[in-house]
Amino acid sequence: MFETPIIADSVRDGIVFIDRSRCLRMRFNRSSCSRCISFCPAQAINIGDDLFIQKDKCNSCLLCTSLCPTEALSLDEEKFFQFFASLKEIEKKVSSPVLSCKEKKGKRGHVTLPCVGYLSEERLLSLAFLFDKVIQIDVSSCQSCEKAVVVPFLKELMDKMEEKLSFSFSSRIKIIENEDNLDFEEVPYGRRDFFTAVQRRTFVELANWIKTHRHKDSYAYSIKEVPMKRTLLNRVFARIPREVRKLYLKHYYFSLQVNDDCDHCFACVGACSTGALKMGTHAGKKVLLHQSALCVYCGLCVEFCRRTAIQVEIGFKGVSPFEFELLK
Ligand code: SF4
Ligand code: SF4
Repeated sequence: MFETPIIADSVRDGIVFIDRSRCLRMRFNRSSCSRCISFCPAQAINIGDDLFIQKDKCNSCLLCTSLCPTEALSLDEEKFFQFFASLKEIEKKVSSPVLSCKEKKGKRGHVTLPCVGYLSEERLLSLAFLFDKVIQIDVSSCQSCEKAVVVPFLKELMDKMEEKLSFSFSSRIKIIENEDNLDFEEVPYGRRDFFTAVQRRTFVELANWIKTHRHKDSYAYSIKEVPMKRTLLNRVFARIPREVRKLYLKHYYFSLQVNDDCDHCFACVGACSTGALKMGTHAGKKVLLHQSALCVYCGLCVEFCRRTAIQVEIGFKGVSPFEFELLK
């Protein structure tokens, strides 16, 4: 099951990129994951023997890419790096970069996304903590768009983040619903110069900085890969204010509990798509190890264990989330 090579597919002119080998349902047919299906406002996602998106229904709101824990559904990698790199470069030029969607008329956005539905909780956290300036997200034209549903979704995520971290995000991210409130500054040099700068320096720098475990040319069930969203959360950890760290560990890192029914078959190690679980040795015996910083709380190990010996919980309870720690 884990050796089948698979070719990634893309739909809607490549906006939503599908890597079936990352989908929990494709990896294990008894997985109960249905986050993308239950959130898709256009009911465009089908998962049976195959995972596919009905092109005629999909409106490219990108909410599925926000919710999929393993990035089986994502924006393609080039676009992701371009987006981050552009923002980093713009940040050096203006006092508050403006992020808008590409459907927006006029040129009052510095960096555009196919849709702001792409801004998952992890990506919002990275906007808040990996950038030094206040980021404005311009949603002023979203109400008249067929994808208007993304605005309440975005606001709900911001509320959730505030609640989880007891932190006011308004000092880092501003959601602009009325264009009169937009504080837009022209970039003080040519557009062509700007993109050349992005291509030459920041793009390459950021790509190297963000991607750590990417196997760009291969899509296979055997590959263990940490989703970019998880990598971003780990990057944020290093930049987050000290007083927020405890709550950050409580809400964005995960712990596993293994009971005495575990017979060390290590099937969960094979099932885990990120490499958060691995086999090790301790006192001359084979043991199960887990690293929280690689875990995406997908629950596949729990569902895969035939002895129901594993439980996964929100919140880090070990010593270091960046080390493999002994489970059993
Ligand atoms: S959310 Fe991702 S992993 Fe879950 S069913 Fe959808 S594509 Fe598969
Ligand atoms: S350890 Fe379990 S919950 Fe965490 S990523 Fe691996 S399979 Fe998913």
